[in-house]
Amino acid sequence: MPGRIRVGYYKSISLLFVTGVFFVPAPAGANTPETCGPGVALKLSAPESAQGGLLLLEVTSDGPIADLSAEWNGRNLAFWQVTNPQSDSKTPPVDLQRALLGVDLEKPAGSYPVSVHVQSAGGKPTTCTLEIAVRLGKFATESLHVDKEFVEPSPEQIKRANEERDRLREIFDQVTPQKLWVGSFRVPLDGVSTGGNFGKRRILNGQPGSPHSGVDFPAATGTAVHAAQAGRVVLAQELFFSGNTVVVDHGLGIYTFYGHLSAIDVKAGDEVQSGQVLGKVGATGRVTGPHLHWGLTVERARVNPLQLVSLLQND
Ligand SMILES: [Zn+2]
Repeated sequence: MPGRIRVGYYKSISLLFVTGVFFVPAPAGANTPETCGPGVALKLSAPESAQGGLLLLEVTSDGPIADLSAEWNGRNLAFWQVTNPQSDSKTPPVDLQRALLGVDLEKPAGSYPVSVHVQSAGGKPTTCTLEIAVRLGKFATESLHVDKEFVEPSPEQIKRANEERDRLREIFDQVTPQKLWVGSFRVPLDGVSTGGNFGKRRILNGQPGSPHSGVDFPAATGTAVHAAQAGRVVLAQELFFSGNTVVVDHGLGIYTFYGHLSAIDVKAGDEVQSGQVLGKVGATGRVTGPHLHWGLTVERARVNPLQLVSLLQND
């Protein structure tokens, strides 16, 4: 009999009337493990996410996990095993596995299931479902003025841009089964901890454009751009909209994207270390000035890369 767990709004609908004010209990689920079969617990980093957000799912077991899979957004999550799990409890879990869940920045608001199938060694298979509430992102709208060719491209430019878009989709669709990164992710510019514009809905020269799928870091042309983590370069070339572009595959469906570079210092196929210089900040492609455009996709979902920096610590 499969267990069924609902996390999120469903557990927080009771209201307590306390001395004249409504008191709404905090949603259950956040950081609270839920059991899923004997000795197995599931934990989400948060019970809900805004569009463009990233969640971490942890599966812990007091015995070795024989089989584990989960579906989210019509795709199988890619789990990795944490080799030295740190635990709050005195008896650390025997097996700890993690997976990232990306919420695409245009995923409609609503409640979505993630189904987890887990079987501990010698145990019965169990299926548990967590519900994740996706809320609308608070994205501002901005009006920009860019060169006319980027708003009204010629038929040849449209053809080129479409081919490049399809090529990127093909890349992001691939899930390299190996985890290529070790440890936490970093912001690609030295001495910078935050950037803006993620998810902004844009009006380009008066016409609605696609939402902004990355974070922009204004910086001087020539500033070194570092790999956010170790991985393999899968694209290093000039693209119509993003100019000189590098894409790094970190494995398990995780890709980072670096756009508008003035120079590229790597080539497709290169293995890169965390922090290795990929190129230099520039103003190539559709820009209003020199900056780095940093993007992240997780299993095809376009998410805010800054969340990856804060979410992973000892992975
Ligand atoms: Zn950008």
